[in-house]
Amino acid sequence: MAVSLKMSSLYVPTLKEDPAEAELASHRLLLRAGMIRKAAAGIYTFLPLGWRSLHKIEQIVREEMDAIGSQEMLMPAVQPAELWHESGRWSDYGPELMRLKDRHGREFCLGPTHEEIITATVRHELRSYRDLPVSLYQIQVKFRDEVRPRFGLLRGREFIMKDAYSFHATQESLQEHYDAMAGAYGRICERLGLEYRPVEADSGQIGGKITTEFMALAENGEAELVYCDCGWAANVEAATTAVPRHPAVTEAVPMEKVHTPGLRTIADLAQAFGVAEYDTVKTMAGKTAEGRLVFLCVPGDRELNPVKAESAVPGFELLEEEDFKTFDIPKGSLGPVDPPSGALVVADDSLRDTVAWGVGANINDYHYFGAQPGRDFEIDVWADLVLAAPGDGCPVCNGTLQGARGIEVSQVFQLGTKYSESMGATYADEDGNEQPFLMGCYGVGVSRSLAAVIEQYNDENGIAWPVSVAPLEVAVVPLNVGDDIVWPVAESLWRDLASAGVETVIDDRDERAGVKFADADLIGFPYQVVVGKRGVADGVIELKVRATGERETLPIAEATERIAALVAQARSALA
Ligand code: ATP
Ligand code: MG
Repeated sequence: MAVSLKMSSLYVPTLKEDPAEAELASHRLLLRAGMIRKAAAGIYTFLPLGWRSLHKIEQIVREEMDAIGSQEMLMPAVQPAELWHESGRWSDYGPELMRLKDRHGREFCLGPTHEEIITATVRHELRSYRDLPVSLYQIQVKFRDEVRPRFGLLRGREFIMKDAYSFHATQESLQEHYDAMAGAYGRICERLGLEYRPVEADSGQIGGKITTEFMALAENGEAELVYCDCGWAANVEAATTAVPRHPAVTEAVPMEKVHTPGLRTIADLAQAFGVAEYDTVKTMAGKTAEGRLVFLCVPGDRELNPVKAESAVPGFELLEEEDFKTFDIPKGSLGPVDPPSGALVVADDSLRDTVAWGVGANINDYHYFGAQPGRDFEIDVWADLVLAAPGDGCPVCNGTLQGARGIEVSQVFQLGTKYSESMGATYADEDGNEQPFLMGCYGVGVSRSLAAVIEQYNDENGIAWPVSVAPLEVAVVPLNVGDDIVWPVAESLWRDLASAGVETVIDDRDERAGVKFADADLIGFPYQVVVGKRGVADGVIELKVRATGERETLPIAEATERIAALVAQARSALA
C-alpha cells in the first residue's frame, strides 16, 4: 500500500504569480508549487511536498552509501569551538562560520561541515590498523553564512548535506574508497535523473589535493566548466590548460609611450589603438600577507584565476580601493615597466614568448605599446595565472576545450592527514608505531540537488519531475467531484493505484478543471489521470504524461494495471 492523499487536505499552497525575488526556475517553482517557504535569506521551511521530494533524495543517497559499506550515524549541528581551534579552522573559516556562545560564555559554532567532530569522535577509539578502514556518514543540516545566499535552495545559509568521512591506514585503501564514493556519487546523479559531469576541482577551504566535483549541467549554474571530447573535464577554477596566444605583433618593435586620457578598460585601449585585446596585457595589483605590492600580468582578453594567484603568491589578495592611495598607484594605468620599488611582478606563462605588450605606464592616462620583457622590463615570476576558458588546449590530449555551466551537487576529497595530524588522531600500525589516519571526506548537497533537478526538469507550466524525485507519482483529477458517476470511478482508481503500490493523490477540490490542471502541471505529478463525465460514459479515462504532454485514453478496467506498469517502468529506469 503506497501513500494516498487528498488534495483538499494537503498543505500545498500554490501561487498563481511568480515571486519577484526568484531569479531561477528552481527557486521560482519551489515557491510557486508550494514546496518551500522562506524564513530568512537563505533559510527555508520545507512544506509537505518539498519534504517528500527531499526525503526521496535522502533515501537514494542512503541506499548508495549503504551499498558501498559506509555506515549512517548522526553528529551534532552545534560544535564546540575548541575542536575548531585544534584544526586551525576557527580562524581560517572566517565569517562564513556561524558562531555562538552558550550561557557560560563558551564558544560554539553551527557546523558548516563535520571534519572536526568526526575526527574527535574516532581518535581515541579507532586504535589499531586492524580497525581500519572505516567509513561513516550522516544526513544533516549545515550552516554557512554565505556572502551571497541566493537562488533558493541552491545557495542557502542553512541546508541539508550528506557528509561522509573515511579513515585509512594506506593510500591504496583511501584511493579504493574514494573511487567507490565517486562511483556512488555518479549513481546518485543518475538515479536523480541528472545530466552531470565529474570534473577536476580545487579543494578550497576543506584542504587536500585530490578531489572531484559532480556538476549537474545547467545554463544558470554558478560553476563554469571546460571539457574535452577525450573525457577530461575541470572546473575553470582548477583547470590548467594550454592558453593559445596569437599576437598580431610577432617581431620586437620600439617601445612607445602614448597619452591615453579616459581610456580605462582593455576594450577601450584595444579599440583606440586598433589592436586586438589579446595584444594588450592587463595588470592587476594585489598584496602579499606581509603587505608587499604585487603586480599580476595576464593577457588582455583573459581573466585572472584567484585560486592560481594565491598559489603563485601565497596570501595574495587583490587591492581594495583605499590601497591604491596607500601605494600611490594609478588604478587604470598599471604595468610592469618601471613598477613601484619593491613590487613583485608576476606574469602569466602564456605571455612568455610575446614581444610587444600594450601595458599601463604607472602614470595616470599613459600606456606603453611594444614593451618587450627582458628589454624594457623584467618579470620576477612566471606562473599559470589565468582562468581556463573554452578554446584553450586540453592538458591531456591538446584537443580544443568546450565550455559549459553547472551546479556543484557533490564533491569527493582525499584529505590525507590534514585533520588527523592537527588533531592528533592516530592509530598503531603493524609495528606498533603511532600513525595519523589518512582521511577522505565526501559531500552531497541534498537540498541543492533538489533544486538542481528542477533546473533540469521544468517548462513554462511548472516542474516536470523525474519519477524518482516527484513528491507523488500519480494525480487522479476528477473533473466534477460532485458528480455521482465521475467521483466513484475517480475514487476507486485512487484507492486501487495506492493498493498497487503507486503514490497517488486525488484532486478532490471543488475547483474548475483549469485550476486543477494548472496545479497538477505546476507541482509536476508525473502521471495525471483525468476522469470526466463523457469518458466515464464511454468507459474510459485519460492519462497524461507530464514530461511529454502525451495523452492516452485507457479503458477504466485496465487503467490501474497500465498506470502501475508505467510507473514501475519509470522507476526502474532510474533505479
Ligand atoms: P560551493 O563551492 O558551491 O560554495 P562548496 O564546495 O563550498 O560549495 P562543499 O564544502 O564541497 O561545498 O559541500 C558539499 C556539498 O554541499 C556541495 O557539493 C554542495 O552540493 C552543497 N553545498 C555547499 N554549500 C551549499 C549552500 N550554501 N547551499 C546549499 N548547498 C550547499
Ligand atoms: Mg565543494
